[in-house]
Amino acid sequence: MRFLASLFSLSLLGSLASQAQTSPKLRTENVVLVTLDGMRWQEVFGGADTVLFSQTKDYYTNRKTLHRDFGQATPEQRRQVLMPFLWGTVAKQGQLYGNRPAGSLVNVTNTMRFSYPGYNEILTGAADDARVHSNDPLDNPNASVLEVLNRQPAFKGKVACFGSWEAFPYILNEKRSGLPVNAGQRLATGKNLTPGELLLNQLEVASPSPFGEERLDAFTFGYALEHLKKNKPRVLYVGFGDTDDWAHGGEYGAYLHAAQYTDGFIRQLWDYLQSDPQYRGKTTLLITTDHGRGQAGTQWQHHGREVAGADQIWFAALGPDTPAAGMATSGQLYQNQVAATLAALLGQVYAPTPATGQPVPAVLGKSK
Ligand SMILES: [Zn+2]
Repeated sequence: MRFLASLFSLSLLGSLASQAQTSPKLRTENVVLVTLDGMRWQEVFGGADTVLFSQTKDYYTNRKTLHRDFGQATPEQRRQVLMPFLWGTVAKQGQLYGNRPAGSLVNVTNTMRFSYPGYNEILTGAADDARVHSNDPLDNPNASVLEVLNRQPAFKGKVACFGSWEAFPYILNEKRSGLPVNAGQRLATGKNLTPGELLLNQLEVASPSPFGEERLDAFTFGYALEHLKKNKPRVLYVGFGDTDDWAHGGEYGAYLHAAQYTDGFIRQLWDYLQSDPQYRGKTTLLITTDHGRGQAGTQWQHHGREVAGADQIWFAALGPDTPAAGMATSGQLYQNQVAATLAALLGQVYAPTPATGQPVPAVLGKSK
């Protein structure tokens, strides 16, 4: 009798476990994907590199101030100051990958190591070195996970894209995909513009960008938040660019400030999501970057095929289905896994080609 009872309870446990493994009920109904262009893992995990404080030209040139604001004694203090939302909230309640000295690796699989191929890999789930190998404004032959989702009735008209770089309409192939893309110097359009959108439109045309056709991230953030509040998309993509532009300009102080205020933008997005019943407890935030940068000397300014380390990136996730595992200290992830992870969080299988990366199991609360 006793034997039978324990056999019964064992098999009951077994069937519950396997059910949980095969079809976990996910709570995510919405996903927000954020990218910080060319943000290095070195600063994400180590904070400011004080040796590079001397590398400024026109912006934030006061080294004393840089030391006061970003030059704390330990890497843990410096990264907390640089990206307080990432370290105070995401690393505590979510997951953070790419701390290479600690043993967690994240890499791009494209061999280009610059922006368009990186965004193509993030958004379509696979590198395409044969066809995607320039930053020129060319329509992407590959469909993104956002385009595929937007074709489905449950997501139709509920996907929105915002970016600072004027190439995003091409990367997302807006002509084919029909995705709404507000990027570059575009304004908010349509009826019923909010007071915030009207003000942003007024300010954007009166604010020449130091980066030419790539606007400052403050506008991209403002438009994205207004859209989020007004239209309540289920999938939102926000592509920030200031970090990359300041780095290319050799402005290390401005690069640090951009990392810090972009972290603040992401916090504001998250705070809004937690204040709204459609999103609270039902929304996952994914954060990553399109490429790394070099390391020694002035190499931090650069990236591309010839720059060692420019394939090294990082990845973060925060949401109701993602256990609070914190900072990873082992394992290897790839940029081509972001798209399938985003889809899997929404209960969708995204595997358009054999080369498409697999979802990251830990983000979905699975062991493997
Ligand atoms: Zn880039």
